[in-house]
Amino acid sequence: MEAYELWQKAVKAREFSYSPYSGFKVGAALLCKNGEVVQGCNVENSAYGPSNCAERTAFFAAVAKGQREFEAIAIAGGKEELVMCYPCGVCRQVMAEFCDPDNFHVICGMNKEKLEILTLRELLPKSFEMQD
Ligand SMILES: [Zn+2]
Repeated sequence: MEAYELWQKAVKAREFSYSPYSGFKVGAALLCKNGEVVQGCNVENSAYGPSNCAERTAFFAAVAKGQREFEAIAIAGGKEELVMCYPCGVCRQVMAEFCDPDNFHVICGMNKEKLEILTLRELLPKSFEMQD
């Protein structure tokens, strides 16, 4: 799947964002190795702490469906206008749990002309992982 096509699915997922406190709506589209795309949005809470990012919503929904292998995730976020929206540190760590850092791609963008494709290793070098 082309990066822009996946990113458009993130833009679509953003419509479901529950963000009454920040007004910052984020959507994510996670491409699984078998071709399935699982979407997620940010879900805020009045107590702030229980809020969840779009990227983790997508990952947890995918894992709950039995997915364990992933190719890429696209992210689209902003208040009214889209801005470059990179995953937070917590979401990067969740990606590191399931994804090969050199082959998993994170697609961040504002529009078709401004799409940035990064590897997980670029976003999270020297990540924590359990050693056998
Ligand atoms: Zn996050």
